[in-house]
Amino acid sequence: MVMSSASQHGSELKARRIVLLGPPGAGKGTQAELLAQELAVPHIAAGDLLRAEVQRGGPLGQEAQGYMDRGELVPHELVVRIVGARLAEVGRQGFILDGFPRDLAQAEALEQLVQVERVIHLVLSREEVIRRLSARLVCAGCGQNYQHLLQEGRCQRCGGELVRRSDDRPEVVAKRYDEQYNNQIEALLHFYRELGERRGLALLRTVSGEGSVETVRRRLLEALG
Ligand SMILES: [Zn+2]
Repeated sequence: MVMSSASQHGSELKARRIVLLGPPGAGKGTQAELLAQELAVPHIAAGDLLRAEVQRGGPLGQEAQGYMDRGELVPHELVVRIVGARLAEVGRQGFILDGFPRDLAQAEALEQLVQVERVIHLVLSREEVIRRLSARLVCAGCGQNYQHLLQEGRCQRCGGELVRRSDDRPEVVAKRYDEQYNNQIEALLHFYRELGERRGLALLRTVSGEGSVETVRRRLLEALG
């Protein structure tokens, strides 16, 4: 293994430029947060990043806002620039990227920006995704997710009311699974498999997202070792 300057400090055996792929509801956000603490690297959630950029009102955020105001999707090229700007900020610390890349074009663009060290595909069946997301409540105050079983009426973080998102209905969840994930994932996996072969390393790992948060966390740490 080639030692990069980023891996000379701390947990040297662990990859530090990490991409998490997987369907909505697989727990990418939760797991990325836990891994970020464990490895002391920034968690970059592409969706949050876009929202934060818009709120901050910088040049990229203003440009994105313009598209949103017109009811248009923020174009691919602009999302790549926003992610790229954040990656430049974190520099050698490394990152755990979740929600990006979503498709082959974004994966190719990311590879132009930075050399990813590990790609983890967090797998969860379509049935389980629908089951989990349909049972999900979110805090109206801070957006924290909760499963019914864990729910105690109020948000543990901010005390806000827990509500069901209108787009967590089963038919909407199924559509999201197919459009955001199922239609793109094969091309992404193929891209990273080939990239790994060209570099002569096992870049891509598959990890099951079934089971408890702690079980999945252990599997992920193993896959990063
Ligand atoms: Zn809350």
